[in-house]
Amino acid sequence: MKRAPGPGEWRNWAGTATATPARRARPRSAAEISAAVKDAAAAGLPVRALGSGHSFTPAAATSGLALDLSLWTGVTAADTRTGLVTVRSGTTLRALNAALAEFGLALANLGDIDRQTIAGALATGTHGTGARLGGLATQVEALDLILADGSAVSCSAAARPELFAAARVGLGALGVVTAVTLRCVPSFTLAADERPMPVEQVIEEFDGYAAANDHFEFYWFPYGRQALVKRNNRVPSGGPAAAPMPGWRRVWEFEVMENAAFGTLCRLGRAAPRLIPALNRVSSAALSARSYTDASYRVFVTPRRVRFVESEYAVPRESLPGVLAELRRAVPRLANPVMFPVEVRVAAADDIWLSTAYGRDTAYIAIHQYAGLPYRAYFDLFESVVATVAGRPHWGKLHTLDAGRLGPLYPRFEDFRRVRAEVDPEQRFGNAYLGRVFGPAGSITG
Ligand SMILES: Cc1cc2nc3c(=O)[nH]c(=O)nc-3n(C[C@H](O)[C@H](O)[C@H](O)COP(=O)(O)OP(=O)(O)OC[C@H]3O[C@@H](n4cnc5c(N)ncnc54)[C@H](O)[C@@H]3O)c2cc1C
Repeated sequence: MKRAPGPGEWRNWAGTATATPARRARPRSAAEISAAVKDAAAAGLPVRALGSGHSFTPAAATSGLALDLSLWTGVTAADTRTGLVTVRSGTTLRALNAALAEFGLALANLGDIDRQTIAGALATGTHGTGARLGGLATQVEALDLILADGSAVSCSAAARPELFAAARVGLGALGVVTAVTLRCVPSFTLAADERPMPVEQVIEEFDGYAAANDHFEFYWFPYGRQALVKRNNRVPSGGPAAAPMPGWRRVWEFEVMENAAFGTLCRLGRAAPRLIPALNRVSSAALSARSYTDASYRVFVTPRRVRFVESEYAVPRESLPGVLAELRRAVPRLANPVMFPVEVRVAAADDIWLSTAYGRDTAYIAIHQYAGLPYRAYFDLFESVVATVAGRPHWGKLHTLDAGRLGPLYPRFEDFRRVRAEVDPEQRFGNAYLGRVFGPAGSITG
């Protein structure tokens, strides 16, 4: 049974991280954020900004000052001609998508859910899928931050470019992001096509599917033979009008089948783990085809109400088949069976220093386990497989890597640490997680 958070306790969505901040602040302006950072420094307290708590890692955890930015929201500027939109950092993707739609704009790509704040999503390198597209951070044109000394700075490709290259996926290590300027695209409609296919065929034809579709991904239940392939493609403007799923069917498909019914199977599996492979095959066999068209953000995003834990690694695109073959071989031998599907997505190479797709066309492999079921052996097995192909962990999802292992995976890792040392010499924005992934101050590779 899940324990209720204690008084003053912070807990993440998955229940994998808790903290009891010494102090909380709910600023309403950049000046209040600056003042709170300065006050914390005077008291010798570390500082972390809170997003929506959707990271599985303890990225946001602090015993010092927790900055709750839930009152620091909203779009402050939108230019429908250039598509440039500036938004306060505590705004959720859900609110942002709705506001953009009013301007006839949209984000070019999104992940699976919209509960995250824009700054929280950027900080850990949140991404969706699309072989020609990058993660959310590639859509950022400029950032405003409050640094450790309380000063306000702006950065972009032209102004403080190194800070910009570091802070777009910055893990909250460089300062508190107060505003994000995004390059948006005109609103668009997506045609969604989802259908089960034999997993062997999907893996064999993976490159072709990734190249032929704007947004391609698939789910695969580790004991099932079928994968659920999702292909979302842009409907050209002037094309057929959107044909969204009727409201009742959305409720049936997303709430009943994907959440309530799946949640029931998961609870059954947790009560009787030996049934899991069979239940998994039931889930796999229940996959059915559906097609609809809708506003982009209504296709990208679905509700996720069944709690789970997750690890995700970015691997060079060409190494995907080998990793999946190894998982298919090894997962059925695990002592504790796996209840949740594996999700596979793609992204184009980018140039953001700590982006998991830095410098290489990427395939993302995400593994999950139902909350409350043992997952350590599965996640360890996964890590040992992706380690052989230089896999990079999602910064917001469970992994065990430290600075010594992460440094060699990122050509600009030392540059990130140098910029961090320049803007936050006392590691005011540090916490235990950053201590692990960035190591102590000073060079770790030299
Ligand atoms: C159900 C579910 C589905 C998910 N789907 C996807 C997906 O499709 N794709 C994907 O890539 N990831 C996905 N994730 C992971 C999620 O997008 C990331 O973990 C994201 O960071 C969570 O955002 P948040 O607002 O909850 O931030 P938090 O988890 O609260 O914080 C993340 C980090 O951001 C920092 N931060 C927050 N605000 C600021 C600020 N203003 N300035 C500086 N630092 C700040 C925090 O200190 C922390 O270090 C999913 C997670 C869940 C639980």
